[in-house]
Amino acid sequence: MGELIDRVSLITGGSRGIGRACCFALASDKSNIALNYNKSSGAADKAVAELEGKGVRAKAYQADVSNAEQTKRMMDQILDDFGRVDVIVNNAGITRDRSFMKMTVDQWHQVLLVNLDGPFNVTSGLLPQMVERGWGRIINITSIVAQMGNFGQSNYAVAKGGMIAFTKSLAREVAVKGVTVNAVAPGFIETDMTAAVPEKVLDTVRQMTPMGRLGRPEEVARAVRFLAAPQASFITGQVVNINGGMYM
Ligand code: NAD
Repeated sequence: MGELIDRVSLITGGSRGIGRACCFALASDKSNIALNYNKSSGAADKAVAELEGKGVRAKAYQADVSNAEQTKRMMDQILDDFGRVDVIVNNAGITRDRSFMKMTVDQWHQVLLVNLDGPFNVTSGLLPQMVERGWGRIINITSIVAQMGNFGQSNYAVAKGGMIAFTKSLAREVAVKGVTVNAVAPGFIETDMTAAVPEKVLDTVRQMTPMGRLGRPEEVARAVRFLAAPQASFITGQVVNINGGMYM
């Protein structure tokens, strides 16, 4: 408790699912929360009110993270309001599933723009002030799909695989600056994203998962909280798998 007191965490796509759970997990360590959302202002405001109820400062910021200008405006506003960002959780992500032979160039680019350009826009804007202070935590939410591949997700696998490569490269660049960079790779987690997956496919997923079930957002957020904590000071460039044993 209180490991992140006076720190500020930015969680992209924080209004629901894994991102929302990350906001609450970090708030339970007393981090102040900058919650980014793209469209769901109602859900974002509700989360902010609940977070404030936990005794931390919280504020919602609208921006499409794939848009560099919008993201810059958001980050300027966050730095104006809070004065710093110590923890970034690059969580915002989308899928546009289609078998490769039917995939359009738009579906390919949309997924790369949100899942890869998004983390670039956010991280490049906020890294300098972390390096200057000599402390920071960057946590990238990748996916088991980067490790195993998945039918109909070549675009998503490329984006999430790129995130792992980005994590390892940036970790090497900033290791001596007090900034750690890690990735968390969830398996199949019960969120709106998997709600769109046909039940038949989810049954197969359960069969392929030694624990025989999907994960919960809180189970992912717990690892994010661990990586953000000061005690995780010698962990960088790693991929933490949270998948019920589906990929080992
Ligand atoms: P979700 O769809 O509930 O949440 C995604 C969040 O990202 C939403 O809040 C959405 O509004 C936001 N978002 C999307 N595009 C955005 C943009 N351009 N700018 C800002 N915000 C944007 O899904 P989730 O399952 O909570 O996914 C969270 C992350 O976890 C994603 O990166 C996803 O790829 C990853 N992930 C999910 C699973 C799973 O099984 N649910 C598995 C592995 C990885």
